[in-house]
Amino acid sequence: MPVTGSTWREPAPVYFYGGMRTQVAIIGAGPAGLLLSHLLGAAGVESVVLETRSQEYVLARIRAGILEDTSVRLLESVGLADRLRRESMPHRGIYLQWPGERHHLDFVDLVGRGIHVYGQTDLTRDLVDARERAGQALVYEVTGTAPHDIDTDRPSVTYVDRDGNPGRVEADVVVGCDGSFGPSRQAIPEDRRRTWERAYPYAWLGVLADVAPSTDELIYARHPDGFAMHSMRSDTVSRLYLQVPPGEDIAAWSDDRIWTALGTRLDVDGWTLTPGPITEKSVLPMRAAVTGPMRHGRLFLAGDAAHIVPPTGAKGLNLAIADVAVLAPAVTALLRGDERLAAEYATTAARRVWRCQHFSWWMTTMLHTGDDPFDEQVQLAQLRWVVESEAGARGLAENYTGLTLDGA
Ligand SMILES: Cc1cc2nc3c(=O)[nH]c(=O)nc-3n(C[C@H](O)[C@H](O)[C@H](O)COP(=O)(O)OP(=O)(O)OC[C@H]3O[C@@H](n4cnc5c(N)ncnc54)[C@H](O)[C@@H]3O)c2cc1C
Repeated sequence: MPVTGSTWREPAPVYFYGGMRTQVAIIGAGPAGLLLSHLLGAAGVESVVLETRSQEYVLARIRAGILEDTSVRLLESVGLADRLRRESMPHRGIYLQWPGERHHLDFVDLVGRGIHVYGQTDLTRDLVDARERAGQALVYEVTGTAPHDIDTDRPSVTYVDRDGNPGRVEADVVVGCDGSFGPSRQAIPEDRRRTWERAYPYAWLGVLADVAPSTDELIYARHPDGFAMHSMRSDTVSRLYLQVPPGEDIAAWSDDRIWTALGTRLDVDGWTLTPGPITEKSVLPMRAAVTGPMRHGRLFLAGDAAHIVPPTGAKGLNLAIADVAVLAPAVTALLRGDERLAAEYATTAARRVWRCQHFSWWMTTMLHTGDDPFDEQVQLAQLRWVVESEAGARGLAENYTGLTLDGA
């Protein structure tokens, strides 16, 4: 297979004074942009990736850590899962908990597939390595990125390089993979664009700690003090989260306070949480947004550029992967004169996005606490139904482990 061969070089862009000519200009070197350029390269389509951050920054970013079965299979099919298969932690399911009770849901028993714990940082490293092996044109530290002429079949992207020189990539297609703060979606004319948004009334305080996980699989806990989660990145690194008010000042949370709150919220008889040195902590707002359509003319959107989900359902990274898995063959066909898949992309992708938006909302509202006693009773009833009814458990398992790529 060409994408794994060490001597394989993808078709290179043609350079001209102040710019490049390529088939697909990709804005953003997150998982969506990097994987898209890999999938296109495997199909013989050349691309240029423009990224505003440095390579070091991109490689160090700590974010998601759960891969659905569908994502792993896709990565495997394009030669990107060697390290993942060696180093990821396959999990059969998760624990759901509320005061006094912890229940295991076995996804493999319920729906025949599990999940993989593998940090987004590791996946990004694999993608960057693969891009470098293929001789991919990747321009880091650009500013002022702007798509142009997306209503024509000769769109372009202008930018300023790290030395302050203006640059231009002329392409047949532009793909905005520039995350939730990137400029691409604004390029869709306002009268054609719609955004649906939800700001959740809580945030997550996330920590990374150099300590072996105190659990074999993820724990999702609903507690009167707020939601807590015990996840992990490896046998020696734990990832933990606490529900906090939006806009919470991280300085108010000493390491001791964090471990005490985690110990209280995750407490269950016969189990102890082992604390350890915290190496990173940050507050993540809980927001949902979808922008559509995900295609306008020769501009396509993928990943966080088009949608954000609250992290409770572990869907952000997986949705980015699913988008580009659907988009790569559509763009490839479009460049060969077949419009059909490209015409369907926005609808196919949006269907999956809204399914994941619903699941993320469902998990979030089941597990996060507010001050409404009625909501509390409803949440407890929902949790009991999920662990006591096979239909309830199966619904959670089916969504958590991921849908097939056509959204079914
Ligand atoms: C702080 C944080 C924590 C998260 N934690 C979790 C989690 O615990 N669990 C979970 O499931 N999901 C989590 N997510 C979501 C998940 O990480 C994202 O869904 C995933 O990264 C989406 O990939 P992407 O490639 O679409 O976007 P991104 O990873 O955001 O990549 C976009 C890229 O575009 C670049 N870019 C932006 N603007 C420009 C520009 N103008 N020009 C060129 N390049 C540009 C950015 O630098 C970035 O490299 C988290 C997200 C954030 C921001």
